[in-house]
Amino acid sequence: MSHVVELRSDTFTLPTPRMLAAATAARLGDDVYGEDPTVAELESLSAKLLGKEAGCLMPSGTMANLAALLTHSPRGGKAVVGAESDIYVYEAGGASVFGGIVYEPITAAEDGTLPLDAVADAFEVDRDDPQFALPAVLTLETPHNRRGGIPLTPGYLAAAGALARRHGVALHLDGARIFNAALALGVPAADLAAPADTVQFCLSKGLSAPIGSMLVGDEASIATARRYRKMLGGGMRQAGMIAACGIVALTDMTDRLADDHAHARRLAEGLADVPGLRLDPEPPRTNMVFFAVDDEGTSHTTESLIEAARVRGVHLAELGRGRIRAVTHSGVTAADVDRAVDVLADAVAAAPRTTR
Ligand SMILES: *Cc1c(COP(=O)(O)O)cnc(C)c1O
Repeated sequence: MSHVVELRSDTFTLPTPRMLAAATAARLGDDVYGEDPTVAELESLSAKLLGKEAGCLMPSGTMANLAALLTHSPRGGKAVVGAESDIYVYEAGGASVFGGIVYEPITAAEDGTLPLDAVADAFEVDRDDPQFALPAVLTLETPHNRRGGIPLTPGYLAAAGALARRHGVALHLDGARIFNAALALGVPAADLAAPADTVQFCLSKGLSAPIGSMLVGDEASIATARRYRKMLGGGMRQAGMIAACGIVALTDMTDRLADDHAHARRLAEGLADVPGLRLDPEPPRTNMVFFAVDDEGTSHTTESLIEAARVRGVHLAELGRGRIRAVTHSGVTAADVDRAVDVLADAVAAAPRTTR
C-alpha cells in the first residue's frame, strides 16, 4: 500500500528534519517576559521580510487575525470583510464575540478582489448619525482561498489601501499564503504588504512549520496586538521551540513553493483531460486546483467522487457547494500528482454517465 496523497490542505505539511534539529537546538527563554531570543529573531526576520517595523508570533492565523481586528476596531466598530473570506467564514465570528465588532461582508469578484465601489459604500456612513456602526478596518485575503487561490495584484492592494486611508480605516491583510502570492506575481512579499497596516501570514501551511502565524505591522499596532494575544491566551513561554521551526520555514521553504505551483499546474493539466471534470479557475495561479464534477461526463456526485478517491488513498476536500479543492505542498511529489490524476480518471471511467 503506497502512502496517502494528501491534497485536502497544505496545513498537513510536516516539519522538515532541519526544523526539528533547529527546535531542539534553539536558545530559549520566557517569551511572556520578552526573553526568548529565538522568538525575537523570528519576529524581527518576519518584520524585515514584510517591510514592517515589528512582528508578533501567534499560535494560529485565526488568533493573528482576531488580535489585528481587536487592535484596529473599537467595540461597535465595523470590519468590512469578504463574504467568503477565512475571517468571515472560518473563524467562528471571533471579532464579533470577543470584540463587539460588526462584520459587513462584501461579495468578492471572481479574481478575489472586493469591488472598491462596494467597499467605498461600506465606508461612507454619516459619522454624525448615531444609527451607524463606524467603519474601522478593511480586511483583504491573498491569495483568496475560496476564489481559486488567486493572488491580489499590487495595484489593487495599493488602491484599496489608499481608499481605506482616505476614510481613516485601517487595512489588515490576511496573507495566510502571502509567499505563494508573491511568487505567483514575481514580486517581493513586502510589495504586497506595503499598503496594509498589519499583515497575518501562516508559517504552518506551505512553509511547513508545525505551528504558528506571524502578525506584522507598525510598532504601536503590534504592541497593542501583543496585549490582545495575552488576553486571548496566546502568550506562550519557551515558544522558541516553535519559532526555531518558523525561522527555518522563512529561510528554507519560500523558494521551494515554486515546486508546489508547478505541481498544481501539472495536476490541472492532467485533470483537464478527464472527461467528467471541469476546472475552474484555469490555470491555477498558486498551489490550489479547483474542479467540479460535470454531470454531462459522469454519474459521480461531488461526494461520491471524493469518497472514491479517498478509498484509493487520494484525499480531496469539498470547498463550497459542488467544488473540489486539491492543494499541493511539500508532502506532494510529481509522482503523487500523477497518481491523483490516474485515480480520478479511473473513478470517472468506472462511473460513466447514465440517463438519470
Ligand atoms: C488557514 C488560514 C487562516 C487561519 O489560520 P489558522 O492557523 O488555521 O488559524 C486564515 N486565513 C486564511 C486565508 C487561511 O487560509
